[in-house]
Amino acid sequence: MTARAGVVITGTEVLSGIITDRNGPWLSERLREAGIDLESIVIVGDRREDMLSALEYLAGEKVDVVVTSGGLGPTADDLTAEVVGEFQGRPMVLDEPLEERIAEILRPLMERFPNLDHEAVRISNRKQAVIPDGSTVIEPVGTAPGLVVPPGDELGGPTIVVLPGPPRELHAMWRAAVDTQPFRRATRGAVTYETRVMRLFGIPESEIAADLRAIEEEGVDLSRLEITTCLRRGEIEVATRFEPRAAKTYAKLEQAIAERHGEILYSRDGSTIDDQVAELLADGPHTIATAESCTGGLLAVRLTDRAGSSAYVLGGLVTYSNEAKVALAGVDPALIERVGAVSVEVAEAMADGAISRLGAELGVGITGIAGPDGGTEDKPVGTVCVSVANRDGARLTRRMRLPGNRADIRDRSATVALHLVRRLLLGESDAAAEA
Ligand code: ATP
Ligand code: MG
Repeated sequence: MTARAGVVITGTEVLSGIITDRNGPWLSERLREAGIDLESIVIVGDRREDMLSALEYLAGEKVDVVVTSGGLGPTADDLTAEVVGEFQGRPMVLDEPLEERIAEILRPLMERFPNLDHEAVRISNRKQAVIPDGSTVIEPVGTAPGLVVPPGDELGGPTIVVLPGPPRELHAMWRAAVDTQPFRRATRGAVTYETRVMRLFGIPESEIAADLRAIEEEGVDLSRLEITTCLRRGEIEVATRFEPRAAKTYAKLEQAIAERHGEILYSRDGSTIDDQVAELLADGPHTIATAESCTGGLLAVRLTDRAGSSAYVLGGLVTYSNEAKVALAGVDPALIERVGAVSVEVAEAMADGAISRLGAELGVGITGIAGPDGGTEDKPVGTVCVSVANRDGARLTRRMRLPGNRADIRDRSATVALHLVRRLLLGESDAAAEA
């Protein structure tokens, strides 16, 4: 029997959509890794009755653990500890050493803001140290301690892990919660699974479904694997969970997919194209510069996402208008006049311009029609030209018709550009292919 869990996300700002829930998806992945099946994620506002009914619902589903997020702060709308104590039938008690530890965390803050009302801070500090009797405390990363609260003795029911809302705090404290005695006891049935992710770029999702059927017919027992395929940012992600004894079966699956798709299967270790390009550029080391039109700098954002990217990203030009393409990237105005701004020739000239204007080894040019207006019969919305070149004259240029809305087209254009950068760095080139 596998252990099962529920998640309760609290916060009126999450329920109302003012902020997007980041804790539910994150906990979902962690539970999956821990071999615990997630029953459901419930989002509730900061209201006592709503939190109680969420807990009742999950207890009714007979989950072994419930993880809550949020509502651990010092203010009156932070109710979670109290509600969980009530639900578990455990009276609230002051944990004095904990109060002292929280005071210790607050001390530098109090010194920095001497005008703070010390009495008010002391009261809210104390509130955070009042916890359900018999809880295991998870030391605070911010100021709020987390809690692991087993059911009150005669009650039975789930053990409840109470974590703060700010994602950074929740992440750090989750690790500690998993290591506590009561958490381990509650999830004893958990099977340890392995999780692997493959990513493929350039085929539709339906094709993977067909592959899986064919691979099964060839005699690979896929029932031993739990395979989830999804389309994420225009790429196929195949995530597989399996028990360690099915490792050979997984190896066969991976092999079969690799044989069918070659280079399209670009990642077997879960790394994204962004990760791989960052690594290739850093390892070179190679320098890169961009000239972007329809993506408005999205590629530069992705290239500079990682700390340390200054070692290889020299800069990016956002050349949205024809004038900017000429003035900033040095594109010949006569070329734009002749073939139009959305053309392979202009994409190439932009890549070359990025190289020469910024002194980079590699340049990328992206020009296209993201829509919804501006398409023509010849160049419909979604027409995008991407060129990636290096200083030695190697080059990969593609003209595509990308599906989706404006945001999808812009995002996928940057993704295509990253794939072309990767291939160029691995030695592929259009000229070489023709020779
Ligand atoms: P605090 O002591 O900061 O009040 P808390 O445990 O009471 O912590 P909340 O009041 O629920 O947590 O949330 C504090 C902030 O943390 C929110 O304003 C929001 O910025 C962030 N946050 C909370 N829950 C989530 C969530 N599910 N996803 C993303 N961010 C969240
Ligand atoms: Mg709060």
